[in-house]
Amino acid sequence: MPVTSYILALGSNRRGRHGSPCCEVQAALAAIGGVRATSRIHETAPLGPSIRRFANAVAWIDSDETPDALLRRLKRIERAFGRRRGQRWGARVIDLDIVLWSGGCWRGPDLIVPHLHYRTRRFVLAPLAEIAAGWRDPVTGRRTRMLLHAVDRRRPCA
Ligand code: ATP
Ligand code: CA
Ligand code: CA
Repeated sequence: MPVTSYILALGSNRRGRHGSPCCEVQAALAAIGGVRATSRIHETAPLGPSIRRFANAVAWIDSDETPDALLRRLKRIERAFGRRRGQRWGARVIDLDIVLWSGGCWRGPDLIVPHLHYRTRRFVLAPLAEIAAGWRDPVTGRRTRMLLHAVDRRRPCA
């Protein structure tokens, strides 16, 4: 396939063999490759002894893979980083999602692009606005910065 661009969301809330969640996100960026731009790593400090620290970032990558092929590779990287099944919403060393694709919309057997929930997730939209504020959501036609403003208007303290 010709080279196209993808926006990926990376998240970690558990130490792995690379170290802190922040180190896991950095190591995942190196493993993915083809990275054209990355946001800062947004860290959420733990609020109490039992609440985990989160690290979130967004990356713009160029790739000649189809969305399905890219997702398969991202899942291999997740497994190599020690992610196990059944960790949805739980503590995990790394989570790699495809948020947007320059080709627009894609539906595969295990994949929906744009990511179904990115429009309401501040932890995706805030880093995304650093590297792709003008990227237009192919479904709603709204740019990243507008989606972020909408989330902030609804939840001014989030
Ligand atoms: P969420 O998708 O709400 O962020 P999650 O990332 O914790 O939750 P996972 O357990 O990592 O959920 O993924 C569940 C499945 O979602 C994956 O096996 C994958 O096939 C599917 N999926 C669908 N669309 C996407 C996408 N755009 N990016 C990554 N995975 C996706
Ligand atoms: Ca996710
Ligand atoms: Ca995921």
